[in-house]
Formats: sequence, C-alpha cells, structure tokens
Amino acid sequence: MEDKTIVCQDCGKEFIFTVGEQEFYKEKGFDNEPKRCKECRDSKKNERRQFRNDR
Ligand SMILES: [Zn+2]
Repeated sequence: MEDKTIVCQDCGKEFIFTVGEQEFYKEKGFDNEPKRCKECRDSKKNERRQFRNDR
C-alpha cells in the first residue's frame, strides 16, 4: 500500500489518503475511498452538530 492523492469533491483541493488511513478504513470495513478532505469532513460534522462540544 502507498499514500494516495485524492481530489476533494467539495473544495477541489488535493489531499493525501495515507496508508494509515487506508488501513483504518479497511478495519472499519469501508470499501470506498474518502471523497472529501479532512477539513471538509470536519466542517460537515460541525454543521450537523450545532453545539460544539469541546469536552
Ligand atoms: Zn475539501
């Protein structure tokens, strides 16, 4: 396995899908590669949770 460069569907930026992340995805049973960079995924998460829990 090696790092993959993926273009984010949301912002169009390239991001690295690292080997570690690929293994994590496999462990979780996800077949698909991520389509969005971490920033976009995080902002999506924050949209859903309107209340920020910073512990
Ligand atoms: Zn993005």
